[in-house]
Amino acid sequence: MRIGVLAYKGSEAALSDWTPVIEHLNKSLPAYHFTLSDYDADGLREAVQHHRVDFVITNGGQYIALEAEFGLSRIATLESPHAASPAQSIGSAVIVRADRKDIAGLSDLRGRRVAAVAPEAFGGYLAAVRELRQLGIDPESDFGRLDFLGLPMQRIVEAVAQGSADAGIVRSCLLEEMAREGRLRLADFRVLSPRSVQGFRCGLSSRLYPDWPIATARHTDLKLAKAVAKELLSMPPTAQGFAWTVPADYQAVHELYRELRIGPYAYLRETGLEGLARRYWPFLLIGFIALAGWVVHAVRVEHQVYVRTGELRRALAARDEAEARMRENQEQVEHLSRLSILGELSGTLAHELNQPLATIGNYAQSLLRRQASGRLTPEAVDEAGTSITVQAERAGGILRRIRDFARKRAVVRERQPLEDLAREAVALFCGMQAHAPSVTVDSGLTPGAIVEVDALQIQQVMLNLLKNVDDAAKGLPEERCRIDLTLSREGDWYRVSVRDRGHGLPEALRARLFEAFFTTKPDGMGLGLSICKTIVETHGGRLWAKPNADGPGMTFTFALPADEPVS
Ligand code: ADP
Repeated sequence: MRIGVLAYKGSEAALSDWTPVIEHLNKSLPAYHFTLSDYDADGLREAVQHHRVDFVITNGGQYIALEAEFGLSRIATLESPHAASPAQSIGSAVIVRADRKDIAGLSDLRGRRVAAVAPEAFGGYLAAVRELRQLGIDPESDFGRLDFLGLPMQRIVEAVAQGSADAGIVRSCLLEEMAREGRLRLADFRVLSPRSVQGFRCGLSSRLYPDWPIATARHTDLKLAKAVAKELLSMPPTAQGFAWTVPADYQAVHELYRELRIGPYAYLRETGLEGLARRYWPFLLIGFIALAGWVVHAVRVEHQVYVRTGELRRALAARDEAEARMRENQEQVEHLSRLSILGELSGTLAHELNQPLATIGNYAQSLLRRQASGRLTPEAVDEAGTSITVQAERAGGILRRIRDFARKRAVVRERQPLEDLAREAVALFCGMQAHAPSVTVDSGLTPGAIVEVDALQIQQVMLNLLKNVDDAAKGLPEERCRIDLTLSREGDWYRVSVRDRGHGLPEALRARLFEAFFTTKPDGMGLGLSICKTIVETHGGRLWAKPNADGPGMTFTFALPADEPVS
């Protein structure tokens, strides 16, 4: 059975320290043969890793590291004569030469040359580092120089004594042991920031930690482990006063390692980006791929949105342009249509104007004749003057309405009394014809019935409907030429109906009444009703036609949304 020990003072010292233990075991367990193998820290770790040792004796720090890494399990803890308890047995002494008055305590170590055993040495480095860190000193960056001189530990004492190091970190009690062996004088050295712990008899700069344990490797037979434990616990103290007791609690060592983030707690140190990356690279890789995918997706979507927005904007601009062109065309067509209505009606316009002009001429001649014959009385002048004025006004009115109607202008919607619009349209219709048919306006509306419309457009509709009757009743007796224009209200709608007594239209053709270019007249354009329908619909209304049920002819009706009078 191989027992591996950490030879912190060198092979020789290890041999002399631990031989009594080996001898005791060999004596009390003769069925086994125990041998001692000494290692430095790395060597011992490797021996455990490759199952070259069955038991391990090492310091508390290496023990917890090997416990975490390879499943070592302690079976007893050393009891040293210098310590009152095995749980408080090991610490660091930070030493300087007694004549170094310039270094009073641990906090004076900044910028100094410090020697220590090794980065992973427990008493020879780490226990002191914990205290230095708590003073805000980081040995790795705040010391002027940090030399790891390795084992045996006496080298550090020598370096301090020779002055090649200003201070040295050693396991507590090393100085005292060396003094006992006559290798130095205690008075030549000083321990920095000394602590006193009751029952602890060595110079000390740090907290105390449990003494060394003996541990079994994972592969070690349990029965053997139990037997060894039993024999160690019953082993009498050696000549130097060492003995074994029940395993101590190594929690304090865990705390030190956790605080320094080393050994089993080294992962805590890796909070930097690099550490995180090293620990979580598979997640980071997945995250990165996901992020990259998302970025590619976002860029693509953005690009598509950009392209589509451009297309949409161009389409909207094209639509606006087309709408503007259509509106312009519509206005143009409406204007032409108005001129065409006038054209059709004005066939008789000359005759119509002729009548007032002839009357005016007659009165003027009669005045001249009376003047020549000396029969010009003031009454006759009065009568002629009045009649001339009336006839001139009549002719002027006709011309004004025609001019207004024929004007080219943009669409304007205004609140208008519907009845006034209708009467004006009828006046224009009748005023332009010598033998205008009789038009009866029957208003069932309250006087304030208002529509919000373009007056000229609505009058154009009315005029078109009235004008169509002329053709529909052509050649019929005067009685059948009469037109009824009726205004009524139906819920939220105002209705305007134009009823004639004409020839009507066969049912097959009625379906096509509102089609553009549908006409039955040799000189017709077939645009009037289709324009009327468009006008009414752009006002939110409807236009339709029905044959009269109770007589000849047809009735054209359009409905407009009623606009409530402003109170
Ligand atoms: P146009 O008067 O140039 O023919 P319209 O669109 O005004 O164009 O009329 C289309 C057709 O509808 C007319 O040709 C006619 O056949 C018919 N129509 C219109 N009004 C009447 C009506 N009151 N009675 C019978 N037919 C009509």
